[in-house]
Amino acid sequence: MRHVIIIGSGPAGYTAAIYAARANLAPLVIASSVEFGGELMKTTEVENFPGFPEGIMGPDLMTRMQQQAEKFGAEIIYDDVVALELEGPVKAVTLGNGDRHEAHAIIYATGSAYRKLGLPDEERLSGYGVSWCATCDGAFFRQKTVAVIGGGDSAMEEATFLTRFADTVYIVHRSDTFRASAAMLDRARADEKIQFITNARVQHIYGAELVTGIGLIDTVTGEERTLDVQGVFVAIGADPRTHLVHGVLELTEQGTIAVDGRSSRTSVPGVFAAGDVVDPTYKQAITAAGSGTVAALDAQHYLETIADSARAGSAAV
Ligand code: NDP
Repeated sequence: MRHVIIIGSGPAGYTAAIYAARANLAPLVIASSVEFGGELMKTTEVENFPGFPEGIMGPDLMTRMQQQAEKFGAEIIYDDVVALELEGPVKAVTLGNGDRHEAHAIIYATGSAYRKLGLPDEERLSGYGVSWCATCDGAFFRQKTVAVIGGGDSAMEEATFLTRFADTVYIVHRSDTFRASAAMLDRARADEKIQFITNARVQHIYGAELVTGIGLIDTVTGEERTLDVQGVFVAIGADPRTHLVHGVLELTEQGTIAVDGRSSRTSVPGVFAAGDVVDPTYKQAITAAGSGTVAALDAQHYLETIADSARAGSAAV
């Protein structure tokens, strides 16, 4: 049986793995079969992670974290968790390949999943002009016109990246106030390939086989219009990935996993949570990494406590 299993391989999971490995806990990291490395695998330049004054590409940063975890003895499995048994002193994790792993403690760091607009044709045209990842799909839109939906940092980042390929990039936002940071908003505003359409809600995505346009409604005047685009990049935020723990771990009103104060302790003893799955607010790589540290230290403390009680129990016999 393992001391600790870490579920998730974003900045939170890998940082927890580095700390747990350095504490001689030989953690097992379940890194997911396709989405290993987390959201940073889909970003380009990360300019705000301390220690990299020249910036670093998101996938490079995650590879470095993975190597650092492995260097200290973390074992990584690239598979998905399909079932969890969290209650009781022995926790069990079942993987997509059917393997079952047991541990005294679990660190749950599954991050968040991209939000969808909820339009009927969004799913149908996914991969045929609708995308959630400019880094992955941007190159298909060379000399094309695309729309990025959203008003946060993700939308600005996607739009700025897409100007490498597309001739025109519309940022379509449902209001005229932006969640994006001033720096990223200013960069997008200064880009002559980017045009802002504010107070506009997307009502339709058009296209028989490939996207040909979107239908917009002005949220102030109610006026409807069609915008001809060949690509739609949805960048409207993300929701915590908690489907495996519904009904088992307590959640907050925002849908994140509830933790005790500033700790990573969830409602189930021996289960710790870290990263975007507990954070409805900051969602930065560095805050996720810090949160992974907290989880590893909390798990370490928990493991020491159960080892002490086991020793006291056997001494009393
Ligand atoms: P945010 O939650 O910050 O922004 C989501 C945006 O999408 C908002 O403008 C919101 O509009 C809009 N939106 C939400 N739901 C809908 C909907 N159904 N239809 C239309 N629009 C919708 O998410 P982000 O992904 O942009 O950013 C998440 C976090 O990640 C932030 O903390 C951000 O700073 C960080 N980040 C940092 C980056 C960097 O520093 N390099 C890059 C990318 C993200 P409204 O405002 O009206 O609610």
